Amino acid sequence: MSAAVAAYDRNNIFARILRGEIPCKKVYEDEHALAFHDIHPQAKIHVLVIPKGAYVSMADFSAQASDKEIAGFVRAVGKTAEILGVVESGYRLLANHGPNSHQEVPHLHVHIFGGQALGKMLA
Ligand code: IMP
Repeated sequence: MSAAVAAYDRNNIFARILRGEIPCKKVYEDEHALAFHDIHPQAKIHVLVIPKGAYVSMADFSAQASDKEIAGFVRAVGKTAEILGVVESGYRLLANHGPNSHQEVPHLHVHIFGGQALGKMLA
């Protein structure tokens, strides 16, 4: 693993959601991924998609996950956008990595923002 990726914390909040210890407002789930509404939405639609494997961010996911996990996760993001009904109107994907991005939760997650006209960037 790259030195830039912290060790995976098995008690991070998303790991606890995956284990069913903390509830979530589920949008989609399959063998590779879980999608649920963000607890503090920053857009009319704000959903997080997380892989089921123990990955901190895109850095270790892209380097260590199997092709099957990566394909499954990407498909789950697309499927979640379809379920949310934002494909035609448009949406934004965002994944934070590390301190400069203010990544809060150390389990890889892709934000889906939509349901409204979005500014040019969400800072
Ligand atoms: P980050 O800054 O990219 O790490 O985003 C973490 C996101 O997780 C934030 O948008 C939080 O609002 C969201 N979040 C934190 N705890 C929970 C939770 O228990 N359920 C749903 N979303 C959460």
